[in-house]
Amino acid sequence: MLPQKRGRIPSRIAMNCCWKVLAIFLLLLPSALSLQPAQSRVLLVSFDGFRWDYIYKVSTPNFHYAMENGVHVKQVTNVFITKTYPNHYTMVTGLYAESHGIVANEMYDPILNETFSLNKMDTHNSRFWEEASPIWVTNQREGHKTGAAMWPGTDVKIHGFFPTHYMPYNESVSFEDRVARLIDWFTSEEPINFGLLYWEQPDEMGHILGPENPLMGPIISDIDQKLGYLMSELKKAKLWGVINVIITSDHGMSQLSSERLIELDQYVNRELYKVIEHSPAVAILPNEGKLDEVYETLANAHPNMTVYKKEQIPDRLHYKHNRKIQPILAVADKGWEIVYNKSDGFQFGNHGYDNILPEMHPIFLAVGPAFRKNATKEVMNATDIYPLLCHLLGINALPNNGSFNAVKDILAEEVPVVFGADTYATIVGVFLGSFLVIVFIAVFVKHFIFTQLNTMQVQHTEAAQPLLQD
Ligand code: AMP
Ligand code: ZN
Ligand code: ZN
Repeated sequence: MLPQKRGRIPSRIAMNCCWKVLAIFLLLLPSALSLQPAQSRVLLVSFDGFRWDYIYKVSTPNFHYAMENGVHVKQVTNVFITKTYPNHYTMVTGLYAESHGIVANEMYDPILNETFSLNKMDTHNSRFWEEASPIWVTNQREGHKTGAAMWPGTDVKIHGFFPTHYMPYNESVSFEDRVARLIDWFTSEEPINFGLLYWEQPDEMGHILGPENPLMGPIISDIDQKLGYLMSELKKAKLWGVINVIITSDHGMSQLSSERLIELDQYVNRELYKVIEHSPAVAILPNEGKLDEVYETLANAHPNMTVYKKEQIPDRLHYKHNRKIQPILAVADKGWEIVYNKSDGFQFGNHGYDNILPEMHPIFLAVGPAFRKNATKEVMNATDIYPLLCHLLGINALPNNGSFNAVKDILAEEVPVVFGADTYATIVGVFLGSFLVIVFIAVFVKHFIFTQLNTMQVQHTEAAQPLLQD
């Protein structure tokens, strides 16, 4: 009897140990699970050319309402060149232009011997887009649905995918119609989790009037009313406060002057080169054998124009390592325009300049359950939008040039550590593995002690026998 009685003690220790490990595991499990990315719905809105400071130029009550209810990031550094297509593709890939391959609005691929042109509406060649995979492709590969209203690139088949719902580009489709389609997609029986909305203004009027023109006031007010309309429609559809809305843009705008023109014809024979992308970051393709001649004549031609051979382009611009970047890049200083000569058409506003310039920076607001309220943040990079979106959608971000850690402080709930999906599996695996190992050790120890006590008992009984006989 004695050995059996004693045997219960190690068994109890073993069971206690198991229960403790199980309790710790259960206690830690929720916090491990809370590290899982969110799976919220997101609407990404771009008002083309909405400079970061437009909200201070005229009364913009709807932008301010969104700011009070969400987060306002004051300076967003977008990517060079600060044009529409490169920056819209950055927002949905997290990559610099040299890495996603949409290096300009106007491009020439010397290997494919093919061109891409926003001006000629010739943007549908998949091969220009497929150096990267935009977020809607990943979203759909992971089983979700996307809806896109005119966002650049969403009417192009990329890696075999269109967005689940999309609208072929047509700038005459009204803002209201675009919003209506998105709301239908968000509220349908098989709803989208991710929507993209693009609107051409205030970019177009910014080019025509110039950003410092007082007539831009009504244009900015109109965008503010459009934002108000979007918010009221989301409220009607019971989506406001439920989905996360990011309101941003691709770039800002700089004021030009007919006094600040750099005329290429004054310095170099037009027969020697082709201009692929236009001012203010001019992509120059010299004729065969004419690279040095064109470069030498332009290099010190004008004090407000910096000319680089492709390999000299500063690393900080992340604008070198792509075959669609042409052999010579001529970049005008802020507010200057590069033209062939004065007979070229003139506009009062332009963008495309160095992305370090605040005038090139866009607005950024984020409103919804995932975001802090009435909060501001000083700076972020446009490349960070992509990992933020992936976190909100609960999908795996592809390798990118952004950083989720750099923007996680705009989220309402603290996100303690950034783990990939693999890491969650690892955490659970380690917990379960440790639990099983401890159970095994406990059973082994129990068994060992039990055997030892049995042996001692036998010896004790044998040793005691003669005394009993006495
Ligand atoms: P940017 O001057 O770089 O800001 O280019 C803006 C212009 O691009 C807008 O005025 C739009 O009309 C035009 N745009 C935007 N998306 C498309 C598209 N999918 N196809 C053709 N043009 C577009
Ligand atoms: Zn634009
Ligand atoms: Zn523009």
